[in-house]
Amino acid sequence: MRLPVRIALLLILFFCADLCFSYVQKELRPQTALQERDIPNALHPLVKQNAELLQTAALKKGITVVITEGFRSIEEQNELYRQGRSKKGNIVTYAKGGESYHNYGLAIDFALQKKDGSLIWDMTYDGNQNGRPDWLEVVSIAKTLGFDWGGDWRNFKDYPHLQMIPG
Ligand SMILES: [Zn+2]
Repeated sequence: MRLPVRIALLLILFFCADLCFSYVQKELRPQTALQERDIPNALHPLVKQNAELLQTAALKKGITVVITEGFRSIEEQNELYRQGRSKKGNIVTYAKGGESYHNYGLAIDFALQKKDGSLIWDMTYDGNQNGRPDWLEVVSIAKTLGFDWGGDWRNFKDYPHLQMIPG
């Protein structure tokens, strides 16, 4: 084999190995990290604090964020998992009880609140009229606070979902 071809093959190999490594880092490792944690009965204090910081920072930009979901028990998670499977409705989760960050008090879901008090999940809504969708402004603030966003997931995108592993 010619040298340039060999180098190209080697580069491709490195690229694939790197992709594989980052997949393990991002999507598989947190799952094992979760299994070692105790199941609480409320939101982790740091996640709660960061959720409040998120609301305060968003409000400064004229965006009202409502936390619609926080800690979820294993039973509640299993019930939610049945939706769209053995129960009617749309599938809203791919996590069974014990597999969701909500079960460990490490995830929140949010919605936007309009001036008339109604909650919306519209990702294009620009209530503060600064030319950027409010939803994405909230997501960027959340990321600076250390949250991972469900909208970045490759398979099932969960746009209202934010999660973190503190410390
Ligand atoms: Zn969620």
